[in-house]
Amino acid sequence: MMALHRRNFLVSASGAVLFAGLGRHARLWAAPRFGAFPFSLGVASGDPWPDGFVIWTRLAPHPLQPDAGMPPLAVQVRWEVAEDEAFAHVVRSGEEIAHPDLAHSIHVEVSGLRPSRLYWYRFLVTGVEASPVGRARTAPAADALPERLRLGLAGCQAYPQGWYEAWRHLASEPDLDAVFHYGDYIYEYGRKSSFTIRDREGRDAHRRHLTDEVYTLPEYRQRYAQYKMDPDLQAAHHAVPFIMSFDDHEVDNNWVSSFDQHGSSREAVLARRIVAMQAWYEHMPVRLAQAPRLGELTMYRRLDFGRLVRMHVLDTRSHRSQQLCETPAGRGCRKRDDATSTVLGNAQEAWLGAGLRNQACWNLIAQQVRMMPIVRRNADGIRLPGPPDSWSGYPAARARLIEAVRDNGLTNVVVASGDSHVHNVGHLPVRDDELDGPAAAVEFLGTSISSGGDGQADSEKRRFLLRDNPHFSLYNQQRGYQLFDIGPHEWRTDVKVLDRVQTPGSMLSTLASYRVHPDKAQLC
Ligand code: FE
Ligand code: CA
Repeated sequence: MMALHRRNFLVSASGAVLFAGLGRHARLWAAPRFGAFPFSLGVASGDPWPDGFVIWTRLAPHPLQPDAGMPPLAVQVRWEVAEDEAFAHVVRSGEEIAHPDLAHSIHVEVSGLRPSRLYWYRFLVTGVEASPVGRARTAPAADALPERLRLGLAGCQAYPQGWYEAWRHLASEPDLDAVFHYGDYIYEYGRKSSFTIRDREGRDAHRRHLTDEVYTLPEYRQRYAQYKMDPDLQAAHHAVPFIMSFDDHEVDNNWVSSFDQHGSSREAVLARRIVAMQAWYEHMPVRLAQAPRLGELTMYRRLDFGRLVRMHVLDTRSHRSQQLCETPAGRGCRKRDDATSTVLGNAQEAWLGAGLRNQACWNLIAQQVRMMPIVRRNADGIRLPGPPDSWSGYPAARARLIEAVRDNGLTNVVVASGDSHVHNVGHLPVRDDELDGPAAAVEFLGTSISSGGDGQADSEKRRFLLRDNPHFSLYNQQRGYQLFDIGPHEWRTDVKVLDRVQTPGSMLSTLASYRVHPDKAQLC
């Protein structure tokens, strides 16, 4: 943490204060006067560990302006963590500098807290009302075996495609420890949308992207700001810590490594990734270890919840081989799968393999895209190749992961995924050509918060998929999220759906519940 020492200050003629160590913008805005409330994007917490968690905010008095209404000056921000909502018992506090280089975002890695305990946090800046108050629970102690851990699974929140009421519902779920977000926090697309979102009176709510497709750092920052202004999304962040990842739309649809779907040059793709990842970091409650460094960012990481759950958060984008061609004529794509194809890259794959050797009751592999195979057919009933943007485009890499699970004798692996905008629950078969054979893991693929609009509970496509995929237990095209209720002897998943998202006032219901026991990779 950066400490401010008096001797580092020099008052300049303009009244700004020079501060040694602030870098290019070596000026501190000593008595800030914001044009509006600077905590317009709310607060957030993330990545709980036994004695703390990350707390986040960003100063943005006019969030949609290119500079968010902030001068290029650094601002000193105070933070407090309390044992009570009224902040009568503040147990940790400190000062951080909000740098213009990082869009005046603040990331504090709070430590020294007690395990498995609820805390409240807030931010303070001279002369303005305090930030909204957020709530976060620390993880269990490393040697503890908690009776219960409750995790949410959610993601894919295309702003122009629906209201965020799923986030509001999730915010009021009791006793949530954390939410895993599988990405698509923003979508890069432009103004055009085929969805009409209506207000309570049935009028067009004009819930659309404000700009064309985003490419530059100011554009990505503004896109995050637009999304984060949503009060339902803020309510979820204020209620529970998020374990963030990213998928494709934080940069560009279906990108992997240095490839995009337009065949852009390596330089162009990497340049876009650099600014997109900076904006991601600036808006996410993640640790400094997840900050971009010269265009590379290490997102994959592990979180332990006592001896109950080891969570492996994967990055299935940054280190992946190029996608397979969907049609033989595909330009610049990979023609066929071979042993060298990879989803995780060598370093992450080795890291995961080593991390699977543990004594935890459960291994949760939290990642972005469908790991299970999926059999799809065209209108004539001819079988199509696996979707190239999921693990099915990388059967050799999937086989290696399954081998790692089996080499370790693990029967307690649960895979959590997203990306497909459907709830899809099933088994990960050991062999791709034996879909109803033994399973290496169970997979809970969460739908979307809003992407895809209202959706539907049943369709012909759904019925065909269930017929052709005996390893699927559930396939549903509505919006919502999933809840994992995890105990040492039983894992329970509730699949939650909303009846609609394109008009407000949605009804939430539990579509299905599943149980898994750690001694067998099987849904009950
Ligand atoms: Fe998505
Ligand atoms: Ca996606």
